[in-house]
Amino acid sequence: VCSFEPGAIVTDACASYSSLDDLNAALSPYVSSLTKGTDFFSYYRLNLYNKVCPFWTDESSLCGNRACAVNTLENEEDIPQIWKAAELGRLEGPKAHHPGKKQQRERREKPLLGELGDDVGESCVVEYDDECDERDYCVPEDESASAKGDYVSLVDNPERFTGYGGQGARQVWEAIYRENCFSKPQSGQQSLSLPGVSSQLGAVSGRQGQAVQDLRSVIKEHGRQHALETGALDDGLDFEDECLEKRVFYRVISGMHASISAHLCYDYLNQTTGQWGPNLQCYKERLHDHPERMSNLYFNYALVLRAVGKLRNHVQDYTFCSGDPIEDRKTKGMVTKLAEAIPPGPEIFDESVMFRDNDPSKSGISLKEDFRNRFRNVSRIMDCVGCDKCRLWGKVQTAGFGTALKVLFELGDHDEAAKPLLRRTELVALINTLDKIGHSLTAIGEFRKMIEASDGST
Ligand code: FAD
Repeated sequence: VCSFEPGAIVTDACASYSSLDDLNAALSPYVSSLTKGTDFFSYYRLNLYNKVCPFWTDESSLCGNRACAVNTLENEEDIPQIWKAAELGRLEGPKAHHPGKKQQRERREKPLLGELGDDVGESCVVEYDDECDERDYCVPEDESASAKGDYVSLVDNPERFTGYGGQGARQVWEAIYRENCFSKPQSGQQSLSLPGVSSQLGAVSGRQGQAVQDLRSVIKEHGRQHALETGALDDGLDFEDECLEKRVFYRVISGMHASISAHLCYDYLNQTTGQWGPNLQCYKERLHDHPERMSNLYFNYALVLRAVGKLRNHVQDYTFCSGDPIEDRKTKGMVTKLAEAIPPGPEIFDESVMFRDNDPSKSGISLKEDFRNRFRNVSRIMDCVGCDKCRLWGKVQTAGFGTALKVLFELGDHDEAAKPLLRRTELVALINTLDKIGHSLTAIGEFRKMIEASDGST
């Protein structure tokens, strides 16, 4: 787990650190050109302020720093056409699920009023509700015109140091890691136990309110101490006792945490000089001295890369509706090029080894369902983050990982029936999450060079 030799294979993935670094160097220009160069991928619509934390109330943990604030787009004219409420309203279409071949052909031949089908032979699709599809690993962002969403430029609100911390942030991380406490022993293995959580959350999608109530009471009951006792918030989590799926859950969260740390250390505010820049000490304390966190970050890169690569089979069915067919074709071409540049086989990450023993009749709720419900809860916990900027990126990245997991575990490779189109917010979150992890790997590379340089000069 802790090996960090360039040639070593990242545990639970199939690629070495150095090959992932090489892929990142080769692919990051494609990814950046999407996240920074297209309206489709550089704006996000989400409910940033109107959702209350379903688990606790703690006004004191809100971050009042200027760096914690998010600039939202208030004026309609600042909002790119593609994201406009008017546009979303106009492009009212069916839900983005499984338009069968026949339906797609009919709609191409005879587009509905207001669709963009005229020029591009495609229809624009908007999601209306934030109810989970049963295959979702996240509580989806509702981008419909009627939702109380905010438009945010992801380029103008970079993820970096905000000063958010203390008990508020710690409480959120604890609650997130506590989701890793699967209560059901698998195949005779010991579980990290937080009794009752997984079974209580089993029916989240159908009984959301009740499940949230239950989780709230469980969190209250067990509190911070329990997370510490169970090792939920501890790098020293003993992987040997864990089945692959639990380990993957932990690694995704820890890798996301590591990526956030990499960003805040790399773009840090020196409060004495007022200058922004890399903070080597911050990197050493949060990442360099914890090789397992770095390993988890690389693991996440492999996982998300594999998911983006799998889009090669789906992107042709996806509709990019900006109102400008030329721009749409360009964006689609860029995503296709990126997906096709990723090695197609399981040489980076092999998701087929997960959830093999997925028979619910043996244990009630299946491991996969348990995993999915837990990840949804992580996405709910993001509403408890007391810093707007951190909440924005926390939500984008949780949605990005949720989408990656959905692509890996719910979408078939070529099976038409299993070919749902992703929501726009999911696709945007996925590509931006890949961008964030890639940026973290680059930042770590820079930090390593700084360490080598300082070692060489002493
Ligand atoms: P924390 O990072 O809060 O970690 C708490 C404990 O978790 C550590 O003591 C350690 O035991 C364990 N831990 C730490 N890292 C890992 C890991 N990778 N894997 C496993 N265990 C680990 N701050 C910003 O400046 N900018 C941001 O954009 C930002 N975004 C955030 C998003 C979210 C969702 C959250 C919850 C917080 C965010 N923060 C952000 C705050 C930041 O993550 C830290 O919480 C804060 O800087 C305080 O750091 P800390 O040293 O107390 O340790």
